[in-house]
Amino acid sequence: MSALSELTKGGTVLPITRWGTPVMHARTRPVTEFGEELHQLVRDMFATMYAAEGVGLAATQVGVDLAVFVFDCPDDDNVRHLGVVCNPVVTLPEGKDRMLDAADEGCLSLPGAYMELARPDTATCRGVDAFGNPIEVTGNGLLARCLQHETDHLNGTVFGDRLAGRARKKLYSIHEKAAETYPPDWPVSPRT
Ligand code: ZN
Repeated sequence: MSALSELTKGGTVLPITRWGTPVMHARTRPVTEFGEELHQLVRDMFATMYAAEGVGLAATQVGVDLAVFVFDCPDDDNVRHLGVVCNPVVTLPEGKDRMLDAADEGCLSLPGAYMELARPDTATCRGVDAFGNPIEVTGNGLLARCLQHETDHLNGTVFGDRLAGRARKKLYSIHEKAAETYPPDWPVSPRT
């Protein structure tokens, strides 16, 4: 069993923090300690992400202001990528390599709502893993979107911040209609 696989199991499902909670809109603290406290947080984050059927989850989404996210996400070739990135920095293609992909995006912290958002179609995310070792993840498709979305979270940015005002209003109204099926402590309590 690899060290990473020991972190993907055995966690506790936590309530997912919603947009509007201050921790979601502020820069996070860098991870400097890679011991059991971090590992328990990571286990809980995997458990919470799987319970919510998400492909990525940032620590701020369980109310913790630490720069770490977990992901289990397919790329354009349907290859599954799974991991933990602490202190992530995203690099995006520039110039003629920069191609935008306009696809629906959603966030577990604004459940039930999706809105089209154009983002670069590939991304590289560098940081360190849950043990402090350098890690680099490059992906396209949903994985590229996930790496950008989760790194945004750790910088205090939610994807609504990247929408024009009208699209953002529409996103909130879609969420309002869907919200009542998500209990406040979702996914600890299931959808109704
Ligand atoms: Zn999100």
